[in-house]
Amino acid sequence: MRGALGGPRVLLRRLREVMAEPVSAQDRLDKIVVLIAANMVAEVCSVYILRVDGTLELYATEGLKREAVHQTVLNADEGLVGLVAREAKPINLSEAQDHPAFSFRPETGEEIYHSFLGVPVLRAGNTLGVLVVQNRASRTYSEEEEEALQTTAMVVAEMVASGELSSLARPGAEPAARHSQHQSGIALSDGIALGHVVLHEPRVVITNVIADDVPKELKRLDTAISTMRADLDRLLESGEMAEDGEHRDVLEAYRMFGHDQGWMRRIREAVSNGGLTAEAAVERVQSDTRARMLRAQDPYLRDRLHDLEDLANRLMRVLMGRDHAPSREQLPLNAVLVARSMGPAALLDYDRKRLRGLVLEEGSTTSHVAIVARALGIPAVGEIPNATGIAESGDAMIVDGSSGLVHFRPSPDIEAAYAERVKLRARRQAQYRALRDRPCVTKDGQKLDLMINAGLLIDLPHIEETGASGIGLFRTELQFMVANAFPRTNEQFLLYRSVLDAAGGKPVTFRTLDIGGDKVLPYMRNVEEENPALGWRAIRLGLDRPGLLRSQVRAMLRAAGGRQLRVMFPMIAAVEEFDKAKELVEAELTHLRRHGHSLPERVDIGTMVEVPSLLLQLDDLLERVDFLSVGSNDLMQFLYAADRGNSRVSERFDNLSAPVLRALKSIVDKGRTHNKPVALCGEMASQPLAAIALAAIGYRAMSLSPSAVGPVKAALLDLDVKKAEAAILPLLDKPVGSISIREELKSFAAAENIQI
Ligand code: PEP
Ligand code: MG
Repeated sequence: MRGALGGPRVLLRRLREVMAEPVSAQDRLDKIVVLIAANMVAEVCSVYILRVDGTLELYATEGLKREAVHQTVLNADEGLVGLVAREAKPINLSEAQDHPAFSFRPETGEEIYHSFLGVPVLRAGNTLGVLVVQNRASRTYSEEEEEALQTTAMVVAEMVASGELSSLARPGAEPAARHSQHQSGIALSDGIALGHVVLHEPRVVITNVIADDVPKELKRLDTAISTMRADLDRLLESGEMAEDGEHRDVLEAYRMFGHDQGWMRRIREAVSNGGLTAEAAVERVQSDTRARMLRAQDPYLRDRLHDLEDLANRLMRVLMGRDHAPSREQLPLNAVLVARSMGPAALLDYDRKRLRGLVLEEGSTTSHVAIVARALGIPAVGEIPNATGIAESGDAMIVDGSSGLVHFRPSPDIEAAYAERVKLRARRQAQYRALRDRPCVTKDGQKLDLMINAGLLIDLPHIEETGASGIGLFRTELQFMVANAFPRTNEQFLLYRSVLDAAGGKPVTFRTLDIGGDKVLPYMRNVEEENPALGWRAIRLGLDRPGLLRSQVRAMLRAAGGRQLRVMFPMIAAVEEFDKAKELVEAELTHLRRHGHSLPERVDIGTMVEVPSLLLQLDDLLERVDFLSVGSNDLMQFLYAADRGNSRVSERFDNLSAPVLRALKSIVDKGRTHNKPVALCGEMASQPLAAIALAAIGYRAMSLSPSAVGPVKAALLDLDVKKAEAAILPLLDKPVGSISIREELKSFAAAENIQI
């Protein structure tokens, strides 16, 4: 005689009433379990909450022994309840004891129960607990009942997330959702940030979970779906978006998913059967998607699930009538931005003065958002799985961009320890600043040139602040990447002139446009490519479409009138490419001369060494160039055949390894033979340990992230290059075993008392 007390509808109505009652958290939970048990005619209904230690504690029960509440604790790998928590999926069994995961806890007296229905208490894809009903007789719970239980689980999830249940917990056994925890990812940008979470894609707080009027909610949902589809159609048909390219595929996929019947049906059913409001239904389906995403191994499936999640965000925004990112005024003073992933332009949209840190679920050290974060001096950590699910808007958070640790809701002692570290760092920064005007000369008298990498106006004060000897790499594409349309020659000219002015006579190496590959311009028609990193990019594009390169070179030559200009080409793979690019510069010089423009006093033309084929053309190349600069980011990606933007492989091989250092040494050695300067401007030089290795193999010029100049200089000032050579060079011929020599380098630094 199921549904005797009115069925799931009545349950949901009663649930609304219980939620509104001014009772204690325990009373509310007790009422909920009684309600469910009565409504489903179940002998048992229990709530288990996941604790910080990973165990599941019984928080309320109707039917099991009352004394077991807050006493019974299950391991997460124990029994059917543990299985529901682990898999984040409902389990519905008419004969629970036949299931291999069944386990028996005598203190609860549950041996007599045959049927079992357990649903996870989920929020943003995280399991917060498990809700269970059991019956003595063997019975099958209907889909409707399962739905109703899931809806109730959402109500419990909100109670956990709001902190309401924390008062019932013993110290050290708090509910997992609100507890402080830390996660280890990869350090993207150095520094420590203490602040409060701002979600880049804010999760909407749903105040109304249960529908008042189901047909009305269905109508709201249908209207929102139509609006969302119309928005997508408009986006797809609008001017620039109508062009072919990757963004178009993404939007097409959205549009397709926007019509995905299975997805729509699940949301509609969550309203019609589950009795949820439209937004709660979207959240519920999104939470399921996210839970699957976190457990999915297949990258293709993960991508699809990401798309569905984005779509749900979109639908939610339509339903709630919200814009997506918080406006500048809404941003708290010490914001820590948390996002799944982000482009460089999106980061620049935020008010730098209010931004303290950045946490990403994805993102590698050489991704562009990481490069911009470093330029802005914003501590950042990437590869924190489910960061957007764990963090709640406004939560306290610590981002440790030196070790790659992120602390969610840190305890007061962690906060105090970090506050102390911030002070210490400030002191160390002051020491670095004191080194600012000291030439970078090693203990044994070797002079090194430390320059900075830059690309935007915001970088320019760093020359002065760091005391760098110039800009070793000016990434001109950043101006293009953050713009909404192609910057005109005059805009480029103005930027380059400001850069040269700010450098005040110190050398600046401008690199011509390095677009294509992962550096996508949203307004440029992109060609579909299987392997964009190996595709039509950088100088290849520049030589095939010389108009763009020509206008850029003209802007540089004009900006450097009466001064020294250094031009460098990216991704040169064959000497004749360099010849052609150089010819183009010379043709522009001739053109400007003919038109009576003021010309640079001197033009040095060089190239990046970032394609391994150049290692086998060094003699020819060095005869032609004025200088070389090694781009270790790309050179490593191509040497190891490991995509620098794919975090699964980007950190797989160590740059501080015998083969890599041998390759780098061969470049600098040849440079010396040909009497041509060789610098290194990839991220590698920004790590003190790598800088020591580079000095040992003969590099005397490096271009770094501005924040790395202090630490690298401090390390080099303490270095005796002769000793480093003696210790490190023999390691390069080390027999193959592990190719990495990182540990040996660390031991050397420790023995020499060099801080790395
Ligand atoms: C490099 O490849 O090392 C480099 C400095 O260039 P980018 O990171 O801009 O590709
Ligand atoms: Mg490169």
